[in-house]
Amino acid sequence: MSEINITPESNATDSVQIQEAQPKSVKSRTVGRIGLALFGGLLTLNSFLLQWWLPEQEYAAQFSAIAGAIILACPIVITAIMDLVEGKIHMNELVALAIFAAFAGGDFQIAGVIAFFLLLTIIIESRTASGAQRSIEELIKLTPSTAHKVVDGKESEVNVSELSVGDVIRVRPGENFPVDAKIISGFSTVNQASITGESLPLDKSVGDDVFAGTMNLTGMVELTVTRIGEDTTLGKVKDMIMAAEQSRTPFVRIIDRYAGYYTPTVLMIAGIAWVLSGYDLDRVTTVLVIACPCAVVLATPTAVVAAVAAAARLGIFIKNVNHLELAAKINAFVFDKTGTLTDGILSVVKLQPADDVKPAELLRYAASAESYSNHPVAAALQNIAKDAGLNLGEVSDFSETPGKGVQAKVDGIDCIVGRTTYLSNLGIEVVQHEKEESEGMSVVYVAVAGKVIGWIGLKDKLRSEAPEIIQSLRDQGVRYCAMVTGDRQSVAETIAGSLQIDEYRSECLPEDKAAFVENLKKTMSVAVVGDGVNDAPALAAGDLGIAMGAIGSDIAINSASIALMTNDLRRIPLLVTLSKRSRMIVSQNLLLGLLIVIGGTVLTLLGMMTPVGAAILHTLSSILVIFNSARLVRTGEELTLAEQQQLAMNAKQ
Ligand code: ADP
Ligand code: MG
Repeated sequence: MSEINITPESNATDSVQIQEAQPKSVKSRTVGRIGLALFGGLLTLNSFLLQWWLPEQEYAAQFSAIAGAIILACPIVITAIMDLVEGKIHMNELVALAIFAAFAGGDFQIAGVIAFFLLLTIIIESRTASGAQRSIEELIKLTPSTAHKVVDGKESEVNVSELSVGDVIRVRPGENFPVDAKIISGFSTVNQASITGESLPLDKSVGDDVFAGTMNLTGMVELTVTRIGEDTTLGKVKDMIMAAEQSRTPFVRIIDRYAGYYTPTVLMIAGIAWVLSGYDLDRVTTVLVIACPCAVVLATPTAVVAAVAAAARLGIFIKNVNHLELAAKINAFVFDKTGTLTDGILSVVKLQPADDVKPAELLRYAASAESYSNHPVAAALQNIAKDAGLNLGEVSDFSETPGKGVQAKVDGIDCIVGRTTYLSNLGIEVVQHEKEESEGMSVVYVAVAGKVIGWIGLKDKLRSEAPEIIQSLRDQGVRYCAMVTGDRQSVAETIAGSLQIDEYRSECLPEDKAAFVENLKKTMSVAVVGDGVNDAPALAAGDLGIAMGAIGSDIAINSASIALMTNDLRRIPLLVTLSKRSRMIVSQNLLLGLLIVIGGTVLTLLGMMTPVGAAILHTLSSILVIFNSARLVRTGEELTLAEQQQLAMNAKQ
C-alpha cells in the first residue's frame, strides 16, 4: 500500500513531470487523510469506552464502531480504486480486501482498529514517498523568488521566472543568487556550501561565475544571467533527486516483474487459511494484512533518496541510482594526473626562448594563442602574461586538440602551442632540448609561422589529500590504483613516486587513456576519475566516470556518471562508503520486510496471529524501514564538520 508506482511501463521522465505538478494535491490529500484517521480513530476508541462504561447501551457502542470503521475504511478503499483505475498494480488492493474481510467478519471494532493502522501506514508512506519532493522543496528555498533586474541603469524588482539569459541583475550582501550568472562589476565573497558542501567562502570578482542557491556574503555585485531554471546547477541537482526516486534498481525491477503474480498468490493463501481455520474470516483478514509487502516496496526507494540527498549535500552529483549501487563494487581506480591528483594550478617555472627570441615575445605568443582554452596550461600562461603586463595579440581561427595543444592566428600569424608530438605531426621540426634542463617540469613548445620559437616549463603540485585517499580506497577493498597522464615521463614518475599506486602511464593521448581503461575493464570494475575536457573519452569508457570540479562545467557533468562539484578528492572514498552503506541498508530493509511477510503468514496459518497484531506489525515494519533508511542522510557529516572546524581555525588566524 505504498505510494510508489510500480507499473513497468511508466518511464522516468514523464513521472518526473507528474511529480512536479503534484505537490499541492499530495499535501492536501495527506491533510485530509490525517483528519479522517483522527476522527475515525476517536470513534473507534469511543466505542470501546462506551462498551466498558455503559455495557447496557450496546447499540451506542456498536453505532460508534460502525461509523468509525467506515470513516477509516473509505480513504483506503478510495485509494485502492484510484490505483486500479490508473492501472497501477498496487499493494492497496490487498489492504482494501483485508478491510472488506474484516467488515464481513462482523466485528466493527476490530475492523476499525485494523483500518486505523492501515490508514496510518498509508499516511506515513505517502509522506516518505514524497521524500524527494521535500529535499527539493528545501533546495527551492535556497533560491529567492524575486531578483533586482537592471535596465538602463534603473533597478526594478522582478520575478525570477521572468529573467532570461543575458539580463543584468544586482545581488546584495546576504542575498542568495537567484540564477547562475557571471559577475560584471563589484566583488564579493560567496558561500557555495549548498551546492558543493564546502563552507569555505570564496572570493569572486569580475568574470567569475556564481551559482543559483549560493549565498552572496559581503559585497554588492552586478551580474549577467548565464543560466536559468532547470539549466542551473541547482536545477540539475533537483532533476537528479527526482530521477533517483523514479529510477529502478535491479531488485525493484524484479518486484515489478512479479507484482502481477503476487496478489493472486496471497488471495490463494488467504483462501487456504480460510478453509483450514474452519471458515474464520479473521484469518483471511490477517493474511491479507500481513502479506501486504509495504516494507519490501519501501526498502529501496527510501534508502536511495536518502543517499542521493546526502550525496547532493556533499556536492556529489549522482546522475543515475545504478551508479550509486555500482560504486560499492568498484575494485580498480584510474586517475588522471593534471587537475585530478595534482591541483592543476600550474606555474610557469621556465621560459626557454630560441636564440634570437626574447622571453616576453615567447610568452606573448603562447598566452595569446591560448586565449580561448580552458586547459590549466592556458590559465598559467595567461596569468603570468597578465602579471608581466603584456598586451596580448589579436586572436583568430582558434582551435584546440584535447590532450595535445592549440592552434590560432595571433595578429594574423600562425601560432601553435602544445606537446612535441603535436607540433611534429603538424610538420614542424622540433629539436628536443636536453632532458636535464626540464627535469620534473611539464613542457609545451611554441611555434610561430612554422618555426619553433622556444619552450615553456610548468609545474603544479600534488593535492595534499591525494596519498591519504588512495590509502582509504585500498582500505575499502580497492585492489588496483593507476594514474594516466598526457604529461611527460619524468613528471609522471615524480608524482607516481609520492603515491601508493600500482601503475602509471605517461604521454597518453585521450584515446590512449580510454584504451587503457577498456583493457583494465576486462578483468576489473573500473572507476575513472578525471577533470573533464580531455578526459571525456576515458570517463565514458569506465564502468563509472567521476568528474572533478564539475561546478558550472557542463562538459564534466555530461561526460561523467558522477560529478563532484568540488576538487576535494576525499569525496571519492566517501562516495564508496555511501554506496556500501546504502546497499547494506537496502538489504536490511528487504530482510526485515520479507521476514515479516513470510513469518507473519506462517504464524497466521498456524493460528498464532490476530488481525490487530498483524496490522500493528505491518505499520511497525514500514516505520522501521523508513527510519533505517533515514540513517543514510548523516553519511559524510564528519567531513563537513571537519571543514567547518578548519574554517573556524582559519577565522582565528
Ligand atoms: P593530463 O592527462 O595530465 O591531464 P593533458 O592530457 O591535459 O594532461 O595534457 C597532456 C599534454 O598535452 C600537456 O602536458 C601539454 O603538453 C599538452 N597540452 C594539452 N592541452 C594543451 C593546451 N591547451 N596548450 C598547450 N599544451 C597542451
Ligand atoms: Mg587532466
